[in-house]
Amino acid sequence: MFSYRHAFHAGNHADVLKHLVLIHCVHYLQEKEGALMLIDTHAGAGLYSLREGYATISQESQTGIDRLCLAKKEGGDRPELKSYWDALAAVNPQQDMHYYPGSPLILAKQLRPQDRLRLFELHPSDISILQTNISPLKRDQQIEIRKEDGFTHLKSLLPPSGRRGFVLIDPSYELKSDYRKLETCLSEALERFVTGTYVIWYPVLPRRESMQLPKRLQSICEKYQRPWLQAELRISNQIGEKRLQASGVWVINPVWTLSSYLEKVLPLLQKALGEDQHSAYRLVISKPT
Ligand code: SAM
Repeated sequence: MFSYRHAFHAGNHADVLKHLVLIHCVHYLQEKEGALMLIDTHAGAGLYSLREGYATISQESQTGIDRLCLAKKEGGDRPELKSYWDALAAVNPQQDMHYYPGSPLILAKQLRPQDRLRLFELHPSDISILQTNISPLKRDQQIEIRKEDGFTHLKSLLPPSGRRGFVLIDPSYELKSDYRKLETCLSEALERFVTGTYVIWYPVLPRRESMQLPKRLQSICEKYQRPWLQAELRISNQIGEKRLQASGVWVINPVWTLSSYLEKVLPLLQKALGEDQHSAYRLVISKPT
């Protein structure tokens, strides 16, 4: 179970989509003064070099952040992407895109004094890298890193005091059991904290569990009568391709500006990251109940 290292995938198209959604949701939730509990159930190492190590072997950033940088150079700045570029600039003071920030670092840098951040990670190497990356930002009890299973321990943090919370569930789906664990985790979480904003990342793969996942997530949302939003981005569709070619985010209780935001951002991403005529995006929003 410890063969997955996010460093191989840092800054790919899936990270770009997920992190844009993450940043938009948290910024919106922070427009209210009330304290926010941010939880990342599958944190990863927090910061990745794109110039050495695993990322240079896989070169997956070429499907994501590298292309987006190129589009920025060619087409100029887009206001929709400003907060994302700010998050990248925060870890690249030389403006050279040497590093790509993972979700824990993006969230940690957005914390206001009243907010809390809880990070789960199980990988023995990645958790110590995460601790090193996060320690300069740690203040009192504001950030906690837990070497625990995020699927089973998420519920122990819910509901957060003040009942304002954002949860990122970003498993690697290396094991088929992750799909079932995700469903159980989500049901347990909604049982305790039905009004939280949940962002679930998933790969779009020609694999039964993957193809069934959106329907299963929809059933959970219907059971708890929750609004949801689904956004997918496909960069290509080559048969037999080993690289991930499409991914999505499922958002429960999406912040109300998210759909209009994605209506602008998804076409931008398709244009910048799409590799062939099969590139596409999809945005689906639940019907009002
Ligand atoms: N969220 C990160 C980001 O956006 O930068 C990427 C996370 S990566 C997709 C998934 C991480 O979950 C890996 O680092 C893996 O070691 C860790 N992991 C796997 N199973 C886990 C579990 N049950 N609980 C907590 N972490 C787990």
